[in-house]
Amino acid sequence: MIFDLHCHSSFSDGVLSPEDLLARAKERGVSVLAITDHDTIAGVSIAHKAAVTLGLQLIPGIEFSSQWGKGGVHIVGLGVDINSPELQAAVNFQEQARAARSLAIGERLAKLGFPDALAGAQKLAGSGTLGRPHFAQYLVDVGAVKNINAAFKRYLGTGKSADVKYQWPAMEQVIHWIHASAGVAVLAHPAKYELTRMKMCALIDSFAAAGGDAVEVISGQQSTAMTQDLAKIVNARGLYASCGSDFHAPGQAWQELGSFGVLPDTLKPVWNLLGFK
Ligand code: MN
Ligand code: MN
Ligand code: MN
Repeated sequence: MIFDLHCHSSFSDGVLSPEDLLARAKERGVSVLAITDHDTIAGVSIAHKAAVTLGLQLIPGIEFSSQWGKGGVHIVGLGVDINSPELQAAVNFQEQARAARSLAIGERLAKLGFPDALAGAQKLAGSGTLGRPHFAQYLVDVGAVKNINAAFKRYLGTGKSADVKYQWPAMEQVIHWIHASAGVAVLAHPAKYELTRMKMCALIDSFAAAGGDAVEVISGQQSTAMTQDLAKIVNARGLYASCGSDFHAPGQAWQELGSFGVLPDTLKPVWNLLGFK
C-alpha cells in the first residue's frame, strides 16, 4: 500500500482540483491520500465523494504555517475532524493572518512601483489561499522579473524590499489546534528549512517537546542517505514517521504523487495512529 500523506489542491497553491488530484493519485497507485492544503480544509471537505467513487482512502489533512525562532516551519495535521469548531477557528485565525500579511506585501510592492500587485495576486489565487507565490507570479506576468525564483530573490524573499516580517503561531499553538480536532501533528519536510543538521535536530526536539507526534522522514524525491539519517533522528526520539510527495503540480518529478521511497521498517509509521496497520 502506498500512503501519500502530503499534497496540495487548487484550494491552496496546488493546480489540480481535489477531484483531479484524487484521480491522479489513484492512477499512480496511491491507496491512501491525505490532502494537506496550506491553512485550509476547503479542498478536503469537497473531496470525500470523489474518494469513495474512486475507491481511494482519503485522510483529511491540513498544512499549518508555524513559527520556530526567526523562521517559518510547517506542521501537517492528519486525520483532523473537519467539523471541529477548534479547527474552524484555527483556519479563520490563519486566514486573517495571511490576509493581513498579503495586504502589507501589496503595500510594499505598490511603493516599489507595482500599484496593482495585490489585486493581481488575488486574481491569480482565485478561490485558493493567497500567498507569496501569487505575488511572485504576478511580478513574472508583468515582466518585472524573469521567473518565480527571481521574484523571491529580488522582492519577496527574506530581507528583500517586499519581505513582510510575520510571526506565525508557535508550534505549541498549532499542535494544540491539531490535537483539539482529533488529528495527529506531523513536522513537515524538516530537511527543507535550510538548517544545519544540529539546528534541524534542535527543531525536531522543540517539536517533540511541544507535543508533536510524527516527522516526515520522506518528502518527495530525496537521497537514501537523507532518509536514513532522518530515520535515525526520529527513532532516537521515539517519534512516528510520515511520508508524502508534497505534490503541487504535474510535471514536477521531484514531488509527484506516490513517487518517493519506502519508509525504513525500523520506523513506527504514522498511519498506525490513523487506524491503518
Ligand atoms: Mn505549497
Ligand atoms: Mn511545506
Ligand atoms: Mn506542502
